[in-house]
Amino acid sequence: MPVTRFAPSPTGPLHIGHAHSALFARQMAAGGTMLLRLEDIDITRCRPEYAAAIEADLAWLGLACPVPVRRQSEHFAEYRQALERLIARGLAYPCFCTRAQLAAAMAAPHAGEPAYPGTCRTLAPAERAERIAGGAAHGWRLDVAAALAETGPLTWRDLDHGVIAAAPLECGDVLIARKDIPASYHLAVTWDDALQGVELVTRGADLFAATHIHRLLQALLDLAVPAWRHHPLLLDAQGRRFAKRDRAR
Ligand code: GLU
Repeated sequence: MPVTRFAPSPTGPLHIGHAHSALFARQMAAGGTMLLRLEDIDITRCRPEYAAAIEADLAWLGLACPVPVRRQSEHFAEYRQALERLIARGLAYPCFCTRAQLAAAMAAPHAGEPAYPGTCRTLAPAERAERIAGGAAHGWRLDVAAALAETGPLTWRDLDHGVIAAAPLECGDVLIARKDIPASYHLAVTWDDALQGVELVTRGADLFAATHIHRLLQALLDLAVPAWRHHPLLLDAQGRRFAKRDRAR
């Protein structure tokens, strides 16, 4: 009877794909507990009325979750501490790239997903310090190769695919803190799943690759390691994913 969770971002009303994901989390809990977590670190896009609507919709679906519900926007200090641990160990570096620079760098053909090409990884420490002192906007990226050198090879377990060799290098040096927020999805989700005692992480197959990074972050931050199960995404009659931006049903 594991603890599972449903972790939507309140950037719009739930669509039928979310209902599927929440039902999946409840079924996988199999009489255990499904937690709701509101992943609202993007304070520019998340709104309290969407958060309230999510809770109301889950109740309507018969999928109400225990309260209080964890809201990530209330826990930035915790994520900052985790981030600072990684910075202090030399496993994270500041990234000053603008959106336009990133788009140009990632436009070059690349096998698989576009990954950050490491532009800011090679900046000299003095230059980093000077730019930060000058107030340059910066996020923080995980130095995946340096991190892996510390942890050594890692594995994780997916209930459908068995034991998987973690391949975080394929994801590139992901952001672990955004310019405006001392966290990113990867850092906050990993931290919270451990903090909330989640034993089985259930989510859509679109996040399968992100699990490589989450496994690495768990090893770096000495966090408990859950199992994972990734459900197929629901598709509409045209074969497209349901998406909030399309105002999906
Ligand atoms: N907050 C993410 C989303 O709405 C899901 C994260 C997860 O389940 O790990 O897509």
